[in-house]
Amino acid sequence: MTKVTELGYVTLGVSDLSAWDAFATTILGLEVTQGETADVRYLRMDYWHHRIKLVNDGTDDLLAMGLRLAGTLELAAMVQRLQAAGVDVRVGSQAEAQARQVLEVAFVTDPNGYAVELFQGPLVQYNLPFHPGRRMHGRFQTAGGGLGHMMLGRRADFAAIHAFYTLLGFTGGIEYRLPLPMLPEPVELMFLNCNDRQHSLAFGPPGEKAINHLMMEVERFEDVGLAGDIVAHAGVPVIIQPGSHANDQMYSFYFKNPSGFMNEIGWGGRQPTGQSEYYQGDAFGHAPVMSNMKGFMVPA
Ligand code: FE
Repeated sequence: MTKVTELGYVTLGVSDLSAWDAFATTILGLEVTQGETADVRYLRMDYWHHRIKLVNDGTDDLLAMGLRLAGTLELAAMVQRLQAAGVDVRVGSQAEAQARQVLEVAFVTDPNGYAVELFQGPLVQYNLPFHPGRRMHGRFQTAGGGLGHMMLGRRADFAAIHAFYTLLGFTGGIEYRLPLPMLPEPVELMFLNCNDRQHSLAFGPPGEKAINHLMMEVERFEDVGLAGDIVAHAGVPVIIQPGSHANDQMYSFYFKNPSGFMNEIGWGGRQPTGQSEYYQGDAFGHAPVMSNMKGFMVPA
């Protein structure tokens, strides 16, 4: 069965491109390359032309997620399957694909209203090895798991979200029922996987923004610690202290980016186990920094 193979790229709308230039390089360690216009930046984390596109449109939120299909036959089969299921799909033009540095793209909207770009054939630049924006012990872990994962606020019910992403080939479900002191009912979080990464997409309570956080995984444990030191030295607000998640068993911490949502840097995530289970808390750590929590919902 044809399925999405990875979260390939994300497009983010931002309001302060120069703050992002500095944050992407000196805090995250990403490589920044110039876009076609002064309003666009590309962020690299491996051989791909980019994994993150920044558009200076003032929205400070997710504009689109790029979900990869293996090739042209797989993308065509996916378009057919979505059409057969009554989902509106628009196959993109050659110009739209080229603007995304991919061979082919098709556009669909998920039940939350979020823009999904199904694509095949990203531009991979083996002549331009990734050049980190600051010192790193290792590299970003993208092979086998794609860009990383993203948690989004849900604006539809879990059943509709699950049904849509199941059509795309994702598996997974509710993995947390988190009791929170300020809420009468535990908060439910849904996690969906499509490859070796335990989850590529997650859905939590609705927030002010579509996106809650974007996680990037590093190959070396030391790079989580180094990022922690750099974040502390730069005075970037930490939102969730270091800890280990119960579901992906990743050691990570969360901090605020110039668009006001969170970046998570993690190491040591496990693969999906293939069976459903749920948790009421993490393995250890991940305590929220209450003074920096305003406007944020629970992590994972
Ligand atoms: Fe996460």
